[in-house]
Amino acid sequence: MKKLSLIPLLVLGIQAFAQQDDASRFASMITTEGLQKHLTVIAGEEMQGRETGTEGQRKAAAYIESQFKATGLGMPKGMANYQQFYPLHKDSMTGCRLMADGRELAQGSDYIIPANTNDNGTFSSSSFIFAGYGIEDAAYNDYAGLDVKGKTIILFLGEPKQDGKYLVNGTNRGSEWTFPGLSKKLLLAAQKGAAGVLVINPLMETFNQRTIDNSKKTNMYYPRNKGDKKLNFANLSHAAARALLGNNFDSLLKHSKNNIPFKKDDLFEKNITVSYNYTEQRDVINASNVLGIVEGTDKKDEYVFLTAHYDHLGMRDGKIYYGADDDGSGTAGIIHMAEAFAKAKKAGKGPRRTVVIMAVSGEEKGLLGSEYYSENPVYPMEKTSVDLNIDMVGRIDTERKTADTLNYVYVVGHDKLSSDLPVINEGVNKKYCNLVLDYKFDDPNDPNRIYFRSDHYNFARKGVPVLFFYDGMLKSDYHKPTDTIDKINWLLFEKRVRMIFHTAWEMANREEMLKRDIPLPESALQR
Ligand SMILES: [Zn+2]
Repeated sequence: MKKLSLIPLLVLGIQAFAQQDDASRFASMITTEGLQKHLTVIAGEEMQGRETGTEGQRKAAAYIESQFKATGLGMPKGMANYQQFYPLHKDSMTGCRLMADGRELAQGSDYIIPANTNDNGTFSSSSFIFAGYGIEDAAYNDYAGLDVKGKTIILFLGEPKQDGKYLVNGTNRGSEWTFPGLSKKLLLAAQKGAAGVLVINPLMETFNQRTIDNSKKTNMYYPRNKGDKKLNFANLSHAAARALLGNNFDSLLKHSKNNIPFKKDDLFEKNITVSYNYTEQRDVINASNVLGIVEGTDKKDEYVFLTAHYDHLGMRDGKIYYGADDDGSGTAGIIHMAEAFAKAKKAGKGPRRTVVIMAVSGEEKGLLGSEYYSENPVYPMEKTSVDLNIDMVGRIDTERKTADTLNYVYVVGHDKLSSDLPVINEGVNKKYCNLVLDYKFDDPNDPNRIYFRSDHYNFARKGVPVLFFYDGMLKSDYHKPTDTIDKINWLLFEKRVRMIFHTAWEMANREEMLKRDIPLPESALQR
């Protein structure tokens, strides 16, 4: 009996196997168990929330490295331990001094000097000039007739209105003199040859302790080429500004609070000496992207990227921000896909193009790791066919409430850069996975601006076609300590990663690189 009953089963088994092509054979090696194994470590307590530049991030990098090594991934040339290091800076004030009329002002109660927008430096002048809002525009000009060379400028934040509309742009929304505002005003003051600037915020009479403390140090930041020279400055309290500007101050303050244009007569020079000194100390912290490759065969000099960020928010007030979905899920996903590609290669079915698996850091600090990679690419961007980026794929959008709407993933970027993107992605999805590919976030009117909010953007701005896979978990536990592994929907997670694997497989093996036939609009290139 037993023997007999085995025969039809065996036949069925063989048939089923014969129907399975190589892609689905290796996709089926991506399993809930495999994803679970990686995510348990990545979103575990030991990683302390993986904040970039901390021990937790370095531990996570070491784990990813160990997995790449165990899988036998290739290491990009010139790299050690699969890691591409990049520097982050953190500045702390070590000293400051502001004198007016020979009298020393008090840091904290009279003024603050924000570390994040000032550099080591000094300036002094024998007089200062009150320059209104510090704006120069065809429609409104505070600088007309003012010679500010070598002098200290005192100005208000903000800009004037006329008949209820902003004077400079004639609309209801502030112009660039409001946002970014100060940096534009500082740049202009520098171009005019001013020595330095003292700034009054009409809405900030005094500085609270938190503002004072925060002004003395920066967050970790990525040192960009600063380019344009800006001036050093201090923010004045209203009491300090009153002492300098004199009795006029209250009427000037009223002007600025009500966005009233300043007239020629409102602006003046005073022969009061000003001297300013600011020093800071810079700490350099090394963070890293972790890169491993499955080398291609006949098209190995072309590349398909799989990316996800392995950093998260770290610890705050003693609480760990686990980041299981954000983006532990993507990190576990790319490690597991790397394993499947490596197994395929071992079985003689390796990809034609080189598949690059890159776990980036610095995402939560402003896409820093991917920015660094895109400015210092290990492989030419022109030869990078596509970046498939994953940031949160293990959960369900809280707006989806009924079971028939849960078989989905948001796909972002399908209508940009390459017309091949949706054709390939939809094709493999239909053939193998049957997920609903939801393009909601590609609506140009969507307020979330998701296209700009994860690492694929740094590939897109270099012209590399990208697709971004995402579960929409923006409410509920997003950026909270409660983004934990117990909330992962494993079957959906597995299904999505398999679909992304199929997409990568097809893109790595097809004859042509993805064509680049839909350039990003100019507006999408400015962040
Ligand atoms: Zn994220």
